[in-house]
Amino acid sequence: AAKQKEGYAPIRQDYEDFYTRRMYYRIHDTFNRPICSAPDAWIDVMRRTPVDGQKPLRLTGSSQRCLNLGSYNYLGFAAQDEYCTPRVEAVLDSLGWAASAPRSDGGTTPRHAELERLVAEFLGKEAAITCGMGFATNSAFIPLLAGRGTLVVSDALNHSSIVAGVRGSGAKVKVFDHNEPAHLEAVLRAAIAEGQPRTGRAWKKIVSGGGGGMRGVVIIEGIYSMEGEMARLREIVEIKKKYKAYLYLDEAHSIGALGPGGRGVCEQLGVDTADIDVMMGTFTKSFGSCGGYIAGSAELVQFLRCQCPAHLYATAMSPPAVEMVISAFHVISGRDGSGRGAAKIGQLRANANYFRRRLLELGYNVLGDWDSPVMPIMLFNPAKLPAISRYMLRRGLAIVVVGFPATPLLTARMRVCISASHTKADLDYALEVFEEVAGRCHLRYCDRATALRH
Ligand code: PMP
Repeated sequence: AAKQKEGYAPIRQDYEDFYTRRMYYRIHDTFNRPICSAPDAWIDVMRRTPVDGQKPLRLTGSSQRCLNLGSYNYLGFAAQDEYCTPRVEAVLDSLGWAASAPRSDGGTTPRHAELERLVAEFLGKEAAITCGMGFATNSAFIPLLAGRGTLVVSDALNHSSIVAGVRGSGAKVKVFDHNEPAHLEAVLRAAIAEGQPRTGRAWKKIVSGGGGGMRGVVIIEGIYSMEGEMARLREIVEIKKKYKAYLYLDEAHSIGALGPGGRGVCEQLGVDTADIDVMMGTFTKSFGSCGGYIAGSAELVQFLRCQCPAHLYATAMSPPAVEMVISAFHVISGRDGSGRGAAKIGQLRANANYFRRRLLELGYNVLGDWDSPVMPIMLFNPAKLPAISRYMLRRGLAIVVVGFPATPLLTARMRVCISASHTKADLDYALEVFEEVAGRCHLRYCDRATALRH
């Protein structure tokens, strides 16, 4: 652990494979099967059956209808939508399925430019750039923002795409305890005292105007996907200002889902987006599509456009996927005139808080903050993962279970993602099953009074 504080530990492929990847692929009757419907509130999960007693079990043609507590479909846009679907179909007719070229070589349509304009406007930034994949938005753009000699101070539980980007950048990396501003400050102070960290060429003059004497880049997330917890953004912004560091915020799970207008963790916590130098996010969760974005100053975005190989040499986002995000933005921001956006955001929050409260009342150890639609429920022992997943599936709940290396080895958990498209009846059904499971699998960790003080 001490070594890890110095930076990222080397990848222990065998160790990781032994515990989880192989285990996951050897177990065939849990929620790791293909699904054969849109990831709406309910999904069809394919069944597997033994064929002549052989393993692996084969998929059969039949499927099972399950309540979907596994998808990141926070606002319910991933299935049909009365406003979005006709627009996506119209773009499919006019522009086709695929961009079939990189952005700078004939892959840009007016819809790509419109999406980038909308992202920047929604976040109150000068400009934005999009990328075909959320993971690649971090892993391919961070190496442009940091390089040899750059100090990167990264939250210990940052997503694997951030880790990949930082590792690929060759920057000097320091890791701070997850969401602990006091430790961030200590790490930043010590790293600055150690030498003369630079911020890399991209940062020098183009982020937040000026940048002279800036000393390092702090990277955090809006909602941590395995913790369900929001960044302690106010304190972190204070620290980054005090030590003259830049702030890079990944809003994959928070954009669209937090704040009364869906504008993310800044709106939720009352932080000015001007204090966030680089805002990253994905379209794969609240927007029901694919791809990611970076928003910031016009000069920063222009620099990335000209320099990032993933922008210059990767095929652009498919036009219907772009249109899906644009129309979801219209609904979220009320531009469609229906008021459904505000209603969806309100419903998501009500659903999330109802489900969290009831789980706590049942005695579950639930991580994360109120208003967060991501709810990790602790199992601790990784041996419980397949049993719980199997039991839930049998009772009609599709639920994700997560263990090492996505979490530390002895903090295995299941994770519920709540959607605005879940009805109260859906959530009550799930809670009935959770009540059963708590008894069967010895999952009650706290009494009701302790839970509600949480
Ligand atoms: N950042 C974070 C914090 C994530 O949780 C994820 C994936 N869930 C990504 C980036 C990658 O996004 P995508 O799935 O859109 O590739």
